Amino acid sequence: MKSIILLAPPAAGKGTQAKLLCEKYAFVHISTGDLIREAVSNQDEMSAYLTEQMQSGELVSDEIILKLLDTKLEEISNESGVVLDGFPRNLEQVEKARQYKHLNETVENDTCVIYLSVDYDLALKRIAGRISCPKCGHVYNDMIEDNQPTVKGICNHCQTVLTKRSDDNEDTFKVRFEMYLNQTEPLIAYYKEKGLLYEVDSSLSTAEVFKQIESIVDHL
Ligand code: AMP
Repeated sequence: MKSIILLAPPAAGKGTQAKLLCEKYAFVHISTGDLIREAVSNQDEMSAYLTEQMQSGELVSDEIILKLLDTKLEEISNESGVVLDGFPRNLEQVEKARQYKHLNETVENDTCVIYLSVDYDLALKRIAGRISCPKCGHVYNDMIEDNQPTVKGICNHCQTVLTKRSDDNEDTFKVRFEMYLNQTEPLIAYYKEKGLLYEVDSSLSTAEVFKQIESIVDHL
């Protein structure tokens, strides 16, 4: 199964670009953050731990993430490519993914990694205005002109009232960015060395970023 890994700091636009990619190329969007939020809503013994990790900005344990992701991949037809949004977060997750049947096939075969670069100040500004649809997952931004919903506070796609993620606040953002620098950024060199990495300047508008992503995907 083809996979496109979106690698980026928080609020670089992974979710927005993943949705656009799936609309155009019929890939399946898998966001590990969404998988965790879904798991939290099951209200079982894991919910409290997952909520605590997300609220603090720390990562959830590899074992939980890998299991959630492998189960999700099992449900998807082999024909569809997937866009991985939020995975892997570190080198250990890449290593451990090899032990999981569906995840191993997806991450090892026919993979392209798109690194969306954005600096701390712009990412923080985006966090402040970010709102998303709790039903279909579309992401909007009140502060960015080309990314606002047509009707304020309402999802363009399913008319659900938009909400703000509780971990989209400055304190949590600082920890999430720090986690990104310490854990996730080393993956850039790792994938570059494998010849799988493409970089896109994600400080540009949503449309311009997507144009660059399209030209990468069209030439794969
Ligand atoms: P995101 O929606 O990608 O911003 O992720 C929200 C939160 O979910 C993160 O701050 C982490 O606590 C957790 N999370 C998402 N993906 C992963 C992952 N691959 N590994 C560990 N934790 C994750």
